[in-house]
Amino acid sequence: MSTGDQTDRRDSEATFGEYGGRYVPEALMPAILELEDAYERYVLENEDGFMDEFRERMREFGGRPTPLQRADRLSERYDREIYLKREDLLHGGAHKLNNALGQVLLAKYMGKERIIAETGAGQHGTATAMAAAHLEMPCEIYMGRTDINRQRPNVYRIRMNGAEVNSVTAGSGTLKEAINETMRDWATTVETTHYVIGSVVGPHPFPKLVRDFQSVIGKEAREQVREQAGRLPDSVVACAGGGSNTMGAFHAFVPDTDVDLYAVEAGGSSLEIDEAEGLAPNSATLSTGTDGVLHGAMTKLLQQRDGQIVESHSVSAGLDYAGVGPELAHLVDTDRVTPVSVDDETALEGFHRLSRLEGIIPALESSHALGYVEEAHEDLGELVVVNVSGRGDKDLETVLEETEKRDLEAAPDVEVFTSE
Ligand SMILES: *Cc1c(COP(=O)(O)O)cnc(C)c1O
Repeated sequence: MSTGDQTDRRDSEATFGEYGGRYVPEALMPAILELEDAYERYVLENEDGFMDEFRERMREFGGRPTPLQRADRLSERYDREIYLKREDLLHGGAHKLNNALGQVLLAKYMGKERIIAETGAGQHGTATAMAAAHLEMPCEIYMGRTDINRQRPNVYRIRMNGAEVNSVTAGSGTLKEAINETMRDWATTVETTHYVIGSVVGPHPFPKLVRDFQSVIGKEAREQVREQAGRLPDSVVACAGGGSNTMGAFHAFVPDTDVDLYAVEAGGSSLEIDEAEGLAPNSATLSTGTDGVLHGAMTKLLQQRDGQIVESHSVSAGLDYAGVGPELAHLVDTDRVTPVSVDDETALEGFHRLSRLEGIIPALESSHALGYVEEAHEDLGELVVVNVSGRGDKDLETVLEETEKRDLEAAPDVEVFTSE
């Protein structure tokens, strides 16, 4: 979506402090307003029992509630209580289905006949294709050519579920171009089509809509930790790319001001931006970004001094995004959420540690949260909830390659290729 076209900044429902809004081209405004109306009626007011059906389907098709599990070895290692919110056990292997199923169902209630979505690493495309198959909606997924080549298994998963994958060849052929292409499609098909955005980003009402569908993570975790540990946690830790699992995990805890909230970003290989090359060797938007408009909202961005969006980087494809959700940016600005970052190597170590110690192979994205707990456990209090946003089966190839490259057997607690 092109930037700066229009917004109504007087509409406080559409903003979080100075962030958010709807900077969209004229052609998309009717769709955005129609969606806002549907959000209010079906999601907020449960018209026609929408939320009841959503919860029911998430239980039967999605496998909710997901467990909150005490991690015994990690608890022992850090000498405090570590609990894992197991979104890796949700259908599809990540938290993404909470949002995808919610939006596809909403599209049905709105009388739409066709679903489109963008995907980078392929996780959101997969979740959307699954939801569309489940709800009998035709579905097309836009994906950059480069990403299609490096995320083959997810391309196959999308197609297996009956969705079409549209290759986007513009620019670097990655997520940013895929989003632009999906917006272009939507601008000409708004009557019949719903665009399922994959995170708490984009113009209002998407950041709130996606947050509300994902907030089940924190709602469940809050009840579960009180029941299992007898009290609220001292801190909640989640990884942040666009910020949907973070907002989902945090939302229920925001009013609990004694609970510290940590958003762990991808520190990549360095936190510096290379101005000359227009590259950021990280995706640490909350920690290092500056204000600007991307994909329909004012938020924190990785950009050059002249406002050009830089190419971000992370070992984990799902965190590799130059923007971040406006509500999360606001919660950081108001000191409710603490942004932190860990580098690629710390995330890889987190990946191996959870796999070896707990028998859970986490997504590389989630491994950032786990890496942060290793680094900072002494500051996290006695009772910590970590959101394991997804499982790591999709990342095995990357992990093997990157582990070898870094000679990680040399890392203190991680014996990677021993064969005892
Ligand atoms: C997509 C993804 C993320 C990053 O997206 P958010 O919107 O920041 O949650 C994190 N973890 C997993 C497993 C993912 O698939």
